Amino acid sequence: MNLDVVYSILTKNDYKLTKQRKVLIDIFIKKRDLFLSVEDIQKEINKIGINLDLSTIYRNLAVLEDSNLVCKIQNGNSNLYKIRTMKKHHHHLICKKCGKAVSFEYCPTDTFVRIAEENGYTFTDDKIELYGYCNNCKNNL
Ligand SMILES: [Zn+2]
Ligand SMILES: [Zn+2]
Ligand SMILES: [Zn+2]
Repeated sequence: MNLDVVYSILTKNDYKLTKQRKVLIDIFIKKRDLFLSVEDIQKEINKIGINLDLSTIYRNLAVLEDSNLVCKIQNGNSNLYKIRTMKKHHHHLICKKCGKAVSFEYCPTDTFVRIAEENGYTFTDDKIELYGYCNNCKNNL
């Protein structure tokens, strides 16, 4: 996903590509394989000499999330964010040490539907993430 694509998606959703959003998207594109905490994002923004407080970052993240431009996963009490690199429904394999992620499409939806039906539920959605150590990190544990 490049800036033009991001821009057209934002405009389609009636959002403007403000300077703050552009900075945020630039960081996400640069770190496209990494899940970042809001604090990580703030550090990256500081590195390029810009100061944004956490509430501003959260507000802009909400816009990107609303436009389906970022993937969000839960990490304890906080969330981690990554630019969405796969359009279809997908899951992530995430390194517990560095946050590096692989997106993959495999999803045993049929099994989930069956489990739900067996229990009298109508299946709606799933949230599954796989965790491990990436090739880099497993040698430096
Ligand atoms: Zn994703
Ligand atoms: Zn790693
Ligand atoms: Zn799934």
